[in-house]
Amino acid sequence: MEAVMNNISVEKAKTSKIHEVDFENLSFGSIYTDHMLVCDYVDGEWKTPKIVPYQPITLDPSAKIFHYGQSIFEGMKAYKDDNEKIWLFRPLENHKRLNKSAKRLAIPQLPEAYFMEGLTALLQLEKDWVPTTPGSSLYIRPFIFASGTGFHASPANAYKFIIACAPSGTYFSGSVKVLIEETYSRAANGGVGYAKAGGNYAGQFYPTQLAAEKGYQQVIWTDDNTHEFIEEAGAMNVFVRIGDTLLTAPTNDRILDGITRKSILDIAKDEGIKTEVRKVSVHEIVEAAKNGSLKEMFGAGTAAVVSPIGAFGYKGEDYELPELKDSFASRLKKRITDIQYNRAEDKFGWRYPV
Ligand code: PMP
Repeated sequence: MEAVMNNISVEKAKTSKIHEVDFENLSFGSIYTDHMLVCDYVDGEWKTPKIVPYQPITLDPSAKIFHYGQSIFEGMKAYKDDNEKIWLFRPLENHKRLNKSAKRLAIPQLPEAYFMEGLTALLQLEKDWVPTTPGSSLYIRPFIFASGTGFHASPANAYKFIIACAPSGTYFSGSVKVLIEETYSRAANGGVGYAKAGGNYAGQFYPTQLAAEKGYQQVIWTDDNTHEFIEEAGAMNVFVRIGDTLLTAPTNDRILDGITRKSILDIAKDEGIKTEVRKVSVHEIVEAAKNGSLKEMFGAGTAAVVSPIGAFGYKGEDYELPELKDSFASRLKKRITDIQYNRAEDKFGWRYPV
């Protein structure tokens, strides 16, 4: 790590909200723990992070986040095992991706030590907030935004890095019906699709609302140029099983390099499942649905881990997917969550103790 920071200050909350929380009925990401980590970038450097009570932030109306959208984030989880020990899953990958996003949005690089030591210190303080009901975890949201001021359209000279945490239940329940997008695009070549930039999500909301009005819960994003190749499923990467081969698109300028996606590819290979990372056309999927070789489609991401797709719509037609007993989706989800919750050997070295 680039720097050692053993002097993170902690201002404890006067009272804890933990007793108000119904841990048996957690929704996703809507209640927050007692503390947050805050780190300011001013005068050309990141200052020492502080842990403070979770609270609103005051910003100047000219803060550049409001006008030019310089904002990036990460999504990760902490898991509690049967012995109450807390684990992260590949957190260094989140740090690397945060800095990749930062570079694209002209935000200063955050040193690894600030991220990892800040995160670990916060989680050690909030350990009682990591839930234990099946499928639950502490969702962690690290983010950086431009707090520096000015109406001039240029990068800010001040930023805030914050980590907030939310005890969360499962993200989706059951399988979803998705619409393969033919008009709107989530990202374009040379753009910011590969970054976890706030604006990417804002741009998805309207097409997703239109899909919802037609009865679809999510949009399958296709390439912006031809709309002929599938790229992502909502805010998840997407996998398709045709016959016994598991397919997913290669990452590019337009696709977020998902940590779940790459973990699933490694686990699938380890399970002896045939995988192909290549462009997957909508035509191929529709043909496979018609001839019965389309077995599964699922989204993959930190929040839902694996989210099975039950049906998809394309050009006014709906196509149902079969219900399988031994689906790749459930097999792969079990393998990955068993590693995350320390219920299985970690042969890839992905678990990270807190
Ligand atoms: N694609 C997009 C657009 C996302 O927002 C996410 C969630 N971070 C993913 C894919 C999945 O990435 P990960 O597996 O790292 O959560």
